[in-house]
Amino acid sequence: MPKSAHIAFTITHQDTHSAARIGLLRTKHGTAETPYFMAVATKGVGKCIGPDDYAETTDGLIANALILSIRPGLDVIEAFDGVHHFMNYHKPIFLDCGAFQMLRESFLETTSKKGIHFKSPFDGKRFLLTPEKIMEIEQKLDADCVMALDDVAPYNATRAQYEKSLENAMRWGALSKKYHTKKDQFLYGIVQGGYEKDLREKSAQWVREMDFDGNAIGGVAIGETRAEMFLAINASLPHLDPKKPKHLLGVGSPDDIVEAVSLGLDTFDSVYPTQAARHGTMFTFQGKIDIIKGIYAKEKGPIEKGCDCFTCRTFSASYVRHLLKLNEPAGKRYATIHNLRFMQRFMEEVRQSIKKGTFETYKKHIIDIYRKDKHHPTHAVGTNVSKKKQ
Ligand SMILES: [Zn+2]
Repeated sequence: MPKSAHIAFTITHQDTHSAARIGLLRTKHGTAETPYFMAVATKGVGKCIGPDDYAETTDGLIANALILSIRPGLDVIEAFDGVHHFMNYHKPIFLDCGAFQMLRESFLETTSKKGIHFKSPFDGKRFLLTPEKIMEIEQKLDADCVMALDDVAPYNATRAQYEKSLENAMRWGALSKKYHTKKDQFLYGIVQGGYEKDLREKSAQWVREMDFDGNAIGGVAIGETRAEMFLAINASLPHLDPKKPKHLLGVGSPDDIVEAVSLGLDTFDSVYPTQAARHGTMFTFQGKIDIIKGIYAKEKGPIEKGCDCFTCRTFSASYVRHLLKLNEPAGKRYATIHNLRFMQRFMEEVRQSIKKGTFETYKKHIIDIYRKDKHHPTHAVGTNVSKKKQ
């Protein structure tokens, strides 16, 4: 279906040494230069952080359509003419369909051909999430980019489970496209298929044929090794339309992001930078630091010299450390502000390096400093999935 003239994705610069590119994602709520990282505001808010801080630390957010439709409810957000006005946040917002929640045992009842049978985490009420229902929710929430309903198989699923999950994802994806009629909103089709090369290829070819407005790679950063994650990404990407915007769901470690950017991915989301911040792991241009360590006890300088975030402009590393050690929400907020602003500055450096033709060097540098830490996980870090449904 022809889209509104208010939305478009244009590639403005292509790296000559890799598939990295610069793009402009034009939405009704502003234009974001890609590649960029978006913070996760599942319920329309993050942990210890809200839209006032997001305004200064993010180029966009991703929220969860399913969760917002349960609380506060679709009628409430509709009364505000959409999620942007409800939150008073005015940059691009993505919506995940919420199928990802099926990885949480407390949510998922079962799946059928029709959709996902959930029970509400708030009141235990049972409901069926169908492609028609999620499209109604996502269109009424009036976000900029929304996801088709997919089926996310857990890490360590069997081949048969991945096949069944992919069949559901294709059936529901096609129905999502049928029920999506909003012209000023991008609909993204999601590639699934676990860590099976041929299933990923099949899924990506199908997503391309369906001609969604954008493409996402899902089912990664859920406990697999980094090698498995990049196998899934590498199997998917060659089959997707290079002109479409590409989102990688759930990946947020700087080293993984530069690697994914070099493969042609445009946008990223993950709870990892904010989750790490609340535990005292600060991201800097010298790598990660553990601010809880004793060497920061009397540090009068900021968390990172040269950082222009509210926290670094205002407080010493020692004070933030003190608050975090006391488990104070204010300390978690200050730490989170730093890491989100770091992600924004880091993505700006990624874009600058692509424009200057120095991206490959920059990528190696980030991978070197972020993977030198012997505690840096060798598995893909991203989504926090506590329990996996088998
Ligand atoms: Zn800072």
